[in-house]
Amino acid sequence: MMEQTMGKRLILLGAPGSGKGTWSKIISDGKGLPHIATGDLFRAELAAETPLGRKVKSFMDHGALVPDELTILLVEKALSDERAANGFVLDGFPRTIPQAEALTEFLEKCGQTIDMVINLIVDESGLIERTLSRLVCIKCGQPYNTMNMMPAVEGTCDYCGGDVVQRSDDTEETLRKRLEAYHASTAPLIDYYKERDLLVAFINDRPPNEEMRSRLFSMIDGVKGEA
Ligand code: AMP
Repeated sequence: MMEQTMGKRLILLGAPGSGKGTWSKIISDGKGLPHIATGDLFRAELAAETPLGRKVKSFMDHGALVPDELTILLVEKALSDERAANGFVLDGFPRTIPQAEALTEFLEKCGQTIDMVINLIVDESGLIERTLSRLVCIKCGQPYNTMNMMPAVEGTCDYCGGDVVQRSDDTEETLRKRLEAYHASTAPLIDYYKERDLLVAFINDRPPNEEMRSRLFSMIDGVKGEA
């Protein structure tokens, strides 16, 4: 059953392929919080061939981070939507210290704060191989995996009927670059949020199961949030 988790503002942090998309979706569906994934937002801009989509294409194709100013504008727009007024799950943002600072500042202006940052811990050996096996629905973003989570009908999303494909940036070369970008620019956020007493670790060492789900939901329920 879906619960309402009013006022919870959550961030999922982790290396590429650590399960941010999968767990964000589980939290979003289970707790009734909108899922805001910058990667999905950028892919939608690309697909619609908007001016922003054209600007970010080469960064994404090469596994590089999109410049902060473009990314921050995109997220501020998504957070200004009334659907995000009562909480959200941020997936793939922030990815740099300036993005985290901009987020803190933006929320402060709205009288809001982040309630919890969930750091997904994975064994990085084999991460590239595991990530190369992932698939995604191009319509709703539902993640799948050729190893253990295939849609019932090959190539078709179980939830929305959209096409299930491999992401064009899930190549070995691009993944290596994304991992480098993670270690250089995103991993420092672990200390940033630790210092602010917001960080919790979640060991994501197997396909999602009920025990992991209830452990994570108890952690989320344990933070106060806003009424
Ligand atoms: P993801 O779907 O989260 O793996 O993101 C796919 C790509 O979108 C990344 O490799 C970056 O090129 C870009 N991207 C997504 N989120 C961000 C962000 N917060 N900052 C910069 N670039 C991002």
